[in-house]
Amino acid sequence: MSNARAQRIADQAPPRAARPASAEPAGGESLGAPASASPLAADRRERRPARSASPASAPRADAAGHKVEVRRLSFWYGDFQALKDISIPIGEGEVTALIGPSGCGKSTFLRCFNRMHDLYPGNRYDGEIMLFPDGINIVDRRTDPMLPRLRIGMVFQKPNPFPKSIYENVAAGLRIRGIRRKSLLDEKVELGLRQASLWDEVKDRLQASAYELSGGQQQRLCIARALAPDPELLLLDEPTSALDPIATARIEELIDELRQSYTIVIVTHNMQQAARVSQRTAFFHIGKLIEFDDTDQIFTNPKHSMTQDYITGRFG
Ligand code: ADP
Repeated sequence: MSNARAQRIADQAPPRAARPASAEPAGGESLGAPASASPLAADRRERRPARSASPASAPRADAAGHKVEVRRLSFWYGDFQALKDISIPIGEGEVTALIGPSGCGKSTFLRCFNRMHDLYPGNRYDGEIMLFPDGINIVDRRTDPMLPRLRIGMVFQKPNPFPKSIYENVAAGLRIRGIRRKSLLDEKVELGLRQASLWDEVKDRLQASAYELSGGQQQRLCIARALAPDPELLLLDEPTSALDPIATARIEELIDELRQSYTIVIVTHNMQQAARVSQRTAFFHIGKLIEFDDTDQIFTNPKHSMTQDYITGRFG
């Protein structure tokens, strides 16, 4: 599936289901907050209002602190079983990295989270992806696929901005969710761009085409587009594989910042990146989960010899 098509699917959502927290104006005071010496520190301060739109005490995870619990998930492309009985918890406010050799099922796994596989007849899920605190099984046939697409943001390998202005790219997901009021759109577009650490670079040219941005800026724009509707979970599918080392470092720094407010699952073929940005790592091999543990543990003292072989470059 092309990135553009997948993004359209990820973004499609009927306005009727817009979350109240997203549809309400966020407290605006910090949008005018004085500049900080650290742009990232400023971002952190400015990110809070988006979250404070929901009651402070509202739980964002289950009692064990899990945003998601994947239970015995299997997935078939027609007759081909690409995922076999995967179970992992995804901690709220953590970055979980998915690693493993090409073709082991990392992207397939990630795409189950927003039901992207539904588009092709013959694809089939079994098991559960429980989204908390509601306890909704995302891959249950009775769950409307729009639900995860509304609540989960996704960023793809290659930056895929729409052929629109910078502003309209970030506003796209908000408009789909029924937000019309210009002042609220302006506020959320600015917040999304600040969260993606792009605001200072584009604030004077919001109406310019997104295609005028560099590759790294375009990817941060895609992150802003995913964040603007305030998703509960952010999925990143090899988000830096098309970027140069400087743009990559910028995105990695950003991921670390975003962890303050979002739960993130990242697919990466770059083990150093997994070690740098994540707190938990899942190692996949031919559709199976071989090992899941704290990232430090996986990279210093893995339990499984296959994990050891992979991280030391003996295969993959
Ligand atoms: P990874 O992200 O780890 O590289 P993928 O999730 O892309 O792996 O692929 C997992 C397996 O599923 C591979 O064997 C791949 O060939 C297969 N696969 C991926 N996409 C499709 C598809 N659309 N139809 C059939 N098989 C697929």
